[in-house]
Amino acid sequence: MVTTRIGLGFDSHRFVRGRPLVLGGVKIPFEFGLDGHSDADALVHAIIDALLGATGRGNIGERFPDTDPAYAGADSCTLLGEVWRELAADGWRVVNVDTVVVTSRPRLAPYVGPMRCRLGSTLGVAAERICVKPKTREGLPREIGLGGVAAEAVILLDCPRD
Ligand code: MG
Repeated sequence: MVTTRIGLGFDSHRFVRGRPLVLGGVKIPFEFGLDGHSDADALVHAIIDALLGATGRGNIGERFPDTDPAYAGADSCTLLGEVWRELAADGWRVVNVDTVVVTSRPRLAPYVGPMRCRLGSTLGVAAERICVKPKTREGLPREIGLGGVAAEAVILLDCPRD
């Protein structure tokens, strides 16, 4: 008997000066970073919410409040690993993760491979089970893609002993 669950996550953060840009756990050279309490990695935040949603465990804001100084500047991949260890201990396995990252700049294609590797190793699966698709905003309002980064994630989990 195998139980499967699907989860959906979305997140967005705006560009600011003076912070490093981190997406999918990978530092990307750029003149802006993303504003937020942690490292503001919108892609990882979307994946965390998809995991929590799939398993009915609330959302990222409840789990890692932006009022808690413990998470100031936190590496979001570390937070993802923390959530994943809890799920894996209950028998959950990642079938696959599919994501879209919307931003007009910088060009993300060169960083997709490293993102898939870091996300895969954090979730204990091969990089080929993680998909990251960069998209430009193309026709969407200025706020989306030009002034920051938006990300969506869908995740499929299974649990052989649920
Ligand atoms: Mg966020």
